[in-house]
Amino acid sequence: MSLIRDQGIKKICLFGGTICPRSETLLAGSGSIFIMSKNITQLAAPVDVKDAFGRPLHDLRISVIDRCNYRCPYCMPAEIYGESYKFLSRKHWLTAGEIKRIASLFIQLGVAKVRITGGEPLLRKDIVEIVSSLSDLPGLDLALTSNGSLLASHAKDLKKAGLKRITISLDSLDESVFSEMSGRKGEVSRVLQGIEAAQSVGLTPIKINVVIQKGKNDHTVLDLIDQFRGSDTIVRFIEYMDVGTLNGWRLDEVVSSASLVEQISARWPLKPVEPNYLGEVANRYIFEDGKGEVGFISSVSEPFCGDCHRARISADGTIYTCLFAKDGISIREQLRAGASDSDLIGFLQGIWRNRKDRYSEQRRENNEIRKTENSRVEMYRMGG
Ligand code: SAM
Ligand code: SF4
Ligand code: SF4
Repeated sequence: MSLIRDQGIKKICLFGGTICPRSETLLAGSGSIFIMSKNITQLAAPVDVKDAFGRPLHDLRISVIDRCNYRCPYCMPAEIYGESYKFLSRKHWLTAGEIKRIASLFIQLGVAKVRITGGEPLLRKDIVEIVSSLSDLPGLDLALTSNGSLLASHAKDLKKAGLKRITISLDSLDESVFSEMSGRKGEVSRVLQGIEAAQSVGLTPIKINVVIQKGKNDHTVLDLIDQFRGSDTIVRFIEYMDVGTLNGWRLDEVVSSASLVEQISARWPLKPVEPNYLGEVANRYIFEDGKGEVGFISSVSEPFCGDCHRARISADGTIYTCLFAKDGISIREQLRAGASDSDLIGFLQGIWRNRKDRYSEQRRENNEIRKTENSRVEMYRMGG
């Protein structure tokens, strides 16, 4: 190899069936290497991997913490997550460096979008370091989801660290409705200050996530639209989902996106527009008067498993291939035991290739599914 380098050769192409695992060591440090093979298991460049239904891996959601300063009843009901609840201990959290390494492995398998989430990600003291190290990864679309309560003081640093976009959750502008939906922890004014701060540093366009629960906040939908219509902020309504097993979900508490579209259209006519890309979770609508856009995430009434290309990883390094997974597979031990990149890539490829998840479609096909499945992982743990 040094002979080749001495001859001034900078690019080497390898053709063949299966690449010898040793070739990676052999070629290390030899310049630009392109491996061309029909049956690659060890990689030097990004490659698409498909799951059992032919779905690629495109997005990664990274939960950086399982704790939260809210107790939204649909996510972390206060009666269960009280003072004495034992969350992950800090030594089990992936470090900023480990998160970066895992993200870079996923990128080699086709991931182009990473969303940092939780729990509440801004509760992590090193959140700016995490964002900064991920933003070093070339070509990555980096976003973060937050409840916005601590955003006013973080927005500038997050932007400076390389964050591109932010989604902020705000279920109502009505103080008493919002208080109830955040488990008596949230204040509307603080979230609005966070949104303003994000706007002023250019973390735009901002998306606002609104979970709608029948009888709780569905009567405040138009106020939310009114607040953000005419700005470049996009409000997105999410159907209340049966994630986890602790929120006491009932189908009759779900307000379908179709009925919301009808309700909003009666005041401000809407028309549907094409998705920005295949697999976009929200159905997009624009106001006919040109005053912006609104989105609907209809995971209950119109499941979108067919295009689902998202993997999730929890704060302790467990990988999940579906929001409704009963269990996941840990990568942390291998990482800490010194596994090589090629070993870890093979491991991740294996997980994705075996993926057969399509829970929301199954739920629609068979409403009884919920009764038989009582061990699903909670959303705040695996990352929403
Ligand atoms: N704490 C941050 C927040 O609330 O934005 C990030 C994590 S949270 C789990 C991510 C998103 O999941 C939020 O927009 C939240 O409203 C949504 N979510 C949580 N539980 C849900 C449920 N049962 N149904 C629908 N959306 C839910
Ligand atoms: Fe916390 Fe977000 Fe869950 Fe609400 S939805 S409890 S803010 S993690
Ligand atoms: Fe994806 Fe699972 Fe949701 Fe279907 S149910 S869209 S597979 S996360």
